[in-house]
Amino acid sequence: MYQRLATSGQYVTVWRIIYNDYFMQNLSITDQHAVATHEFGHVLGLGHFDDPYQIMRPDPTTNWIKTPSYDELNAVDWINSQ
Ligand SMILES: [Zn+2]
Repeated sequence: MYQRLATSGQYVTVWRIIYNDYFMQNLSITDQHAVATHEFGHVLGLGHFDDPYQIMRPDPTTNWIKTPSYDELNAVDWINSQ
C-alpha cells in the first residue's frame, strides 16, 4: 500500500510504502518484486490500468508481467513533464 504523507503543490514530497507481511511471505521473490514495482509506480504518479500487460493492473501478481511497460514508462515521463 502506498500512502502520501505530504505534498508541495502537485508534487508528493513524503510518501511510504507499507507491505502486508502475511501476504508478501506467501509470494515468490519474483512476485514480491512485482508488488514493489507496482507500488513504486503509484509513488511516481501512476494509477491502476485494467490491462493484463501492465504492472499497474490492480493485482500485479496474477500475470507474468513483472516490469513496467513502455506505455507506463512514457506515462511517468509525461507526469514528470507537467
Ligand atoms: Zn495499486
